[in-house]
Amino acid sequence: MVTSYQKSSKWVHSFQQGKADGSAQEKSLLGGKGANLAEMCNLDLPVPPGFTISTQVCDYFYKNQNQYPETLTNQLNTALASLEEQMGHKFGDVNDPLLVSVRSGAPISMPGMMDTVLNLGLNDETIEGLAKQAGSKRFALDSYRRFIQMYGDVVMNVPHQLFEDALHRLKERVGEDRDNKLLAEHWEELIPEYKEIIKTVAGTEFPQDPHKQLWGSISAVFSSWMCKRAITYRQINNIADDLGTAVNVQCMVFGNRGDASATGVLFTRNPNTGEKELYGEFLHNAQGEDVVAGIRTPFNINDREAGQPLIDKEMPGMYNQILEVSSRLEEHYRDMQDIEFTIQQGKLFLLQTRGGKRTTGAALKIAVDMAEEGLLTREEALLAIEPTSLNQLLHPTIDYATEFDILTTGLAASPGAASGIVALTADEAERLANDGEDVILVRESTSPEDIHGMHAARGILTAAGGMTSHAAVVARGMGRSCVCGASELQIDDENNQITIGETTVKVGERITLDGSTGHVIAGEVQMAQPTITREFDIFLKWADSERTLGIRANAETPADCKTARKYGAEGIGLCRTEHMFFDPDRINVMRQMILAETVNERLAALNKLQPIQRGDFVEIFSIMKGLPITIRLLDPPLHEFLPHSDEDVKQVAKEAGVSEEKVRRRMHQLHEENPMLGHRGCRLGISYPEIYEMQVSAMLEAALEVQSKNPALAPKLEIMVPFVANETEIELWKKRIDDLAAEKLAELGNVKVNFQVGTMMELPRACLTANEIVPHVEFFSFGTNDLTQTAIGLSRDDTSAMLSDYLTTGLISTDPFQSIDRVGVGELVKIAVERGRAEKKDLKCGVCGEHGGDPQSIEFFHNVGLDYVSCSPFRVPVARLAAAQAAIRDQSMKVSVISVGKTATGK
Ligand code: PEP
Ligand code: MG
Repeated sequence: MVTSYQKSSKWVHSFQQGKADGSAQEKSLLGGKGANLAEMCNLDLPVPPGFTISTQVCDYFYKNQNQYPETLTNQLNTALASLEEQMGHKFGDVNDPLLVSVRSGAPISMPGMMDTVLNLGLNDETIEGLAKQAGSKRFALDSYRRFIQMYGDVVMNVPHQLFEDALHRLKERVGEDRDNKLLAEHWEELIPEYKEIIKTVAGTEFPQDPHKQLWGSISAVFSSWMCKRAITYRQINNIADDLGTAVNVQCMVFGNRGDASATGVLFTRNPNTGEKELYGEFLHNAQGEDVVAGIRTPFNINDREAGQPLIDKEMPGMYNQILEVSSRLEEHYRDMQDIEFTIQQGKLFLLQTRGGKRTTGAALKIAVDMAEEGLLTREEALLAIEPTSLNQLLHPTIDYATEFDILTTGLAASPGAASGIVALTADEAERLANDGEDVILVRESTSPEDIHGMHAARGILTAAGGMTSHAAVVARGMGRSCVCGASELQIDDENNQITIGETTVKVGERITLDGSTGHVIAGEVQMAQPTITREFDIFLKWADSERTLGIRANAETPADCKTARKYGAEGIGLCRTEHMFFDPDRINVMRQMILAETVNERLAALNKLQPIQRGDFVEIFSIMKGLPITIRLLDPPLHEFLPHSDEDVKQVAKEAGVSEEKVRRRMHQLHEENPMLGHRGCRLGISYPEIYEMQVSAMLEAALEVQSKNPALAPKLEIMVPFVANETEIELWKKRIDDLAAEKLAELGNVKVNFQVGTMMELPRACLTANEIVPHVEFFSFGTNDLTQTAIGLSRDDTSAMLSDYLTTGLISTDPFQSIDRVGVGELVKIAVERGRAEKKDLKCGVCGEHGGDPQSIEFFHNVGLDYVSCSPFRVPVARLAAAQAAIRDQSMKVSVISVGKTATGK
């Protein structure tokens, strides 16, 4: 069945036609590349003419068994005729042929993932015309052999390596090792060999008809949307499969027409550091793929000879022209650009521009610099950074104070340090990573086929390729450490090893990469924690001035509290007291307490636990220096603490001075089929009140100890009762805590401690009856981990395999334990906040489930009106930024609603 489209649909769009407005709709129709080419034409920048076949055709193609809309051929022929007219050459003309490139261009950039064909239109006859046009037979033959190879690989599925092997054999015969030294006669020898390879492998001849070549290439590009590497890339980067790609057909300009010709790739700022300087490479007398493939070593765009830019040597004034074009593009797009250019006989052409991929460190510096330069507003700068990307800045780096062996130094292609075991193929890297190993993927060079291995690896090391090679660009985007072009590296696949100088490293042995210096180091190396840059600080301060949500951390150890403070947490939103007892020195005392059969036995264990707990609280309060700290009373699903091995049982029995049999009997009594819904949370406190009493007294004593030494450090203590379902539970505990505190504080000399009592909202019943619970508390803290578990009826421990089936089959789009299920679990949060605040206007509401560190969830919590989110300490910077972005978006929505309102009322 043919999916219906309007007969009059416009499928083909000329770059020069119409207004290019840079809108999202335009990008989704023309793809990023097509939209940007049209926009560059609008800016009168030097772009070779061309046209875009829209993403709608891709959609049609997939919905109609790889067929095209009826009217496409006509539209394409008209566009082609217009190119012929503009260029004064004819497609397929044996005397003066027009040549084109065919390239993919998806709405969201997917570098290197889909196919490209260059020099299209050449055949055994038009090659003569091209030779005449260019005045060089060698050039025409070189272009033809490249085209046959690309077409064979991309359209006819002939392995690229077969062509490379033939070229290699030719070079050996001739005794030359560089492509650009080969002569016309050498290419003449190679071309029939290439055609023969195609005929043998594909079973058909290389097509001579330029129109057939064009349609073959268009179909290949549309088909490459669904190739494995593109699908993997989309999965990794969360890009929807139904966006489709556009196809761009563009007149060829040649970087391989002599020494005043070149091809290059350029970033308008340094994508590793963010420094405001040109960053790129170019190759004389070459075509684009030579730079990207890393076959010849390109020159740095900033290289100079006797003070003069090298690029000016054969092409005077070129450096300044490039500089000017770069700043015009930056000013227009208000973003750092990644530009592809070609210089044909001294004339500069732009083939592509797009927002450049960059490290997070560079992204922060660029955002801060652009805001300071006035190119962006602060709000725009804050919105320009994806919050979770900040994680990359928090990765460890190598501690150069320690000793280690540097095996070699390659190009520092993507910053950050990584240690891991060597793997030589992407599949192997993925397999080892799935087994839980840290892996370094080592390759001669990488290609898009390696994407899954690169994703699985901690770091990537290559022997060939420059700073804009595939490995470098992809690793940077993924935030993987990468060292490229380590030319001393030799890969010995046969013996499963690599050698660098004198050193041999076997597959499975460990190396370390420093992607910030290019060092390749033997073995594992001590890593240092990252230092916070000036831009990181400035940026997060800007974020703080925008956000309205408070940001706290979930922490219970002094080390976590210090990290939380360092990253800007404004308090502790959840101190899980049972976690304080997981330590091997403490767990047996905790077990004695849990296994106690009588109050006296329990009190004996609690008396041992109390000083430990008080000591921990003193440390935490001292670190948090007067900030609010929510301490949760014990909430252990008991199974987490019961002895597991015979050895554990023996040890507990010995320390408690009871028989092993008694311990086993008690374990049997305490066994629960479903412990997560069992005897936990406040239910435990109700059965064994002495546990909570011990904890409350430890908190009060610790607070007193800290504040009596320094009143400025007096903590704002928030005592939290977990797993409350009924009003009666919290009513009981509120009264007990207040009574206990009054008694304790009177006993200690009528002193005062600043404390509040609140509850954890992690059961649907509590949320729905929030109005009944609220009179007994001063705060609600939403435990969205348990709330998700109990609202969806989905075990938080046992469902990961099932959830992954749900995700891959599209039954759900996100894991509800990672990102809040807005319409279900989120609705319960909303109801509880509304019902709670209807009774108590100033009720403090926060969230302490894992969702507190997830940007999408944070936006939801902002919109629901929570006071704070609490997350793990390393996610605090992410949460600060996500909260700022939520506030900015919210504000801009309000502004647009107000302006719509004004128009509507005519004011
Ligand atoms: C929660 O349930 O969301 C929570 C924070 O508590 P825990 O993860 O300790 O059960
Ligand atoms: Mg919980």
